[in-house]
Amino acid sequence: MKYGKNHRRSLALLLALFIAAALLFSSFFVFTHLKHDCTGKGCSVCTEIGTCIRTIHLLSDAIGWGAAGILVCICVKNLGKPYAAGLYLCPASLVRLKVRLNH
Ligand SMILES: [Zn+2]
Repeated sequence: MKYGKNHRRSLALLLALFIAAALLFSSFFVFTHLKHDCTGKGCSVCTEIGTCIRTIHLLSDAIGWGAAGILVCICVKNLGKPYAAGLYLCPASLVRLKVRLNH
């Protein structure tokens, strides 16, 4: 049980590192090769720059939607707890608790 949780955490950390590295190296390549001796149509550097920009857009969109999804899940889970707890509580009344009211 604990091994599986640590394994998932390690995989998540590794995936996050790969995504961060892809974003970092793609951005670095675009910035360093933006001014190059372009050969015109069919330039391999321009093709690579286009690939890097598409990768950055794809990962940025995925991270944005993932973060929004996680935020919604956390909000729904935390807001749903009081309502779910209220469903299982029996209403307490003096009659139900069999409290005798004496003067
Ligand atoms: Zn070029």
